Amino acid sequence: MIQDRKIAYFSMEIGIEEAMPTYSGGLGVLAGDTILAAADAEVPMAAVSLVHRKGYFFQKLTEDGRQIEEPVIWTVEDFLEEMPPRVSVVIEGRTVQIRCWKYEARGIGGYIVPIYFLDTDLEVNAPQDRELTDYLYGKDKRYRLCQEVVLGIGGVRMLRALGYEQLERFHMNEGHASLLTLELLEEQKRKRNGQTISEEDIAAVRRQCVFTTHTPVAAGHDQFPMDLVRQVLGQQEAFSLNNVFCCGDMLNMTYLALNLSHYVNGVAKKHGEVSRHMFGGYEIDAITNGVHAARWTSEPFAELFDKYIPGWREDNFSLRYALSVPSEEAWEAHLQNKRRLVSFVNRETNAGMDAETLTLGFARRATSYKRADLIFSDRRRLKSLCRKGGRLQIIFAGKAHPNDFEGKELIRRIFSARGELMPEVRTAYLPNYDMAMGRLITAGVDVWLNTPQPPLEASGTSGMKAALNGVPSLSVLDGWWIEGCIEGVTGWAIGENHRQAEMPQDRQKDAESLYEKLEKVLYVYYKTPLQFRKVMLHAIALNGSFFNTQRMMQQYVLKAYFS
Ligand SMILES: *Cc1c(COP(=O)(O)O)cnc(C)c1O
Repeated sequence: MIQDRKIAYFSMEIGIEEAMPTYSGGLGVLAGDTILAAADAEVPMAAVSLVHRKGYFFQKLTEDGRQIEEPVIWTVEDFLEEMPPRVSVVIEGRTVQIRCWKYEARGIGGYIVPIYFLDTDLEVNAPQDRELTDYLYGKDKRYRLCQEVVLGIGGVRMLRALGYEQLERFHMNEGHASLLTLELLEEQKRKRNGQTISEEDIAAVRRQCVFTTHTPVAAGHDQFPMDLVRQVLGQQEAFSLNNVFCCGDMLNMTYLALNLSHYVNGVAKKHGEVSRHMFGGYEIDAITNGVHAARWTSEPFAELFDKYIPGWREDNFSLRYALSVPSEEAWEAHLQNKRRLVSFVNRETNAGMDAETLTLGFARRATSYKRADLIFSDRRRLKSLCRKGGRLQIIFAGKAHPNDFEGKELIRRIFSARGELMPEVRTAYLPNYDMAMGRLITAGVDVWLNTPQPPLEASGTSGMKAALNGVPSLSVLDGWWIEGCIEGVTGWAIGENHRQAEMPQDRQKDAESLYEKLEKVLYVYYKTPLQFRKVMLHAIALNGSFFNTQRMMQQYVLKAYFS
């Protein structure tokens, strides 16, 4: 079984099980969905990540919306099986031992894709090294670089120690894993008995590597000063290779991956375009993200699909037949989801929400480009709109990175708007957003709201989860929504599809457009409920059937894995 594995998938975060805090957001959830789709399709893959013993963080929110971060406490042994091999890497001259824990992701036909979570918490290691696999995106640059050494270099060594000798592709899910290329270069050199790394070695590594870039936001691309890199890794031959390490006194993980991959892609068509602009001179394709349909479809809709579209789990394309599902039954399934969500929200936040009012959902990382408060730009207008068109409820959730002070401020602003917006608009901010809550919110609201500043949303995936549950999007035209939006049919667009990067003053225009569209949505929801149900079914048929990881995995197989 190990012998037949051809694809190694590396990701700093993997969200595979709701109770394992080994992810922070979209990137990790996508990794989990990707692995599940690979298992369904029996793609011979093995995945590697870090164990993140203290998780991303547990989020608490005070009365006034201040975020408090606590380490997540979880028991690794409850979920994962320890594997026998030990490998090591050298960090700052110290030998750091690594072990790994296995999780088996099981596909629909029983095929298993193993995930190996690397762990440095071993007694033989120095105290500071034992912590290296504790915090996802925690601490400082040095810590982060050390983690990437463990993931990239340690990860390749671990796969070899486990017996994976036939791997043909190394897929770097974002640049955090780029250091795996150094280990592959060393392997090539050893195989040849070479003294130095040759052009041939570089070409061989390129043939093996695949790179997916995930964000046009600068902070999403890791860069480390070369002094730090030398301090952590020692002097390495690869540092002097100009066509590999191109960027002077900084090591840019994205460029390292770009230079050593034969296939590179962005995660939506627009993002491919934006990435080609950002990284001129590289060939960058696009494979639009998806979500794992069976995982993100709520029970009421799964039952409905089982009844009317049998086989939908094996063949997600067949969700196109959702158009023939009786709309009263879809509405009934939706109401079940909505009631569940409303009672959860009321229990958690005492928001006094009900199941009749039009309810919007907005849940994702709290960071400034996502503009969670765009809908509050003009509160008087929002209130008057709802006085005329009907009441509104908005459910928010999302964690701000511990160092993202603007993101934290955003949460506080949403909290502070609450009183002023009553009674026309009720709001709630749910603490500690995670996949379980994501399932509940994306299925339970009436309309999914997304208002990022274009072109910074590479793809976005939560609107896809919503679509599978008959929840249309009201979203800025960016990322996947440029491909998924058919106005008034699958949802509604805010603003236009801009070619260039947005100017800050466009916030005003986007807010304007948001209010205009919201007026329309209120009308459709309250005045023409049958029309609203039609939109729900079209969201499933046109978007659920396409924006899933089954279609996405087929594209990776064709374009990146077996090409
Ligand atoms: C799906 C999901 C995300 C991704 O949200 P975007 O729409 O891509 O911003 C983030 N966090 C959790 C917990 C999710 O389930």
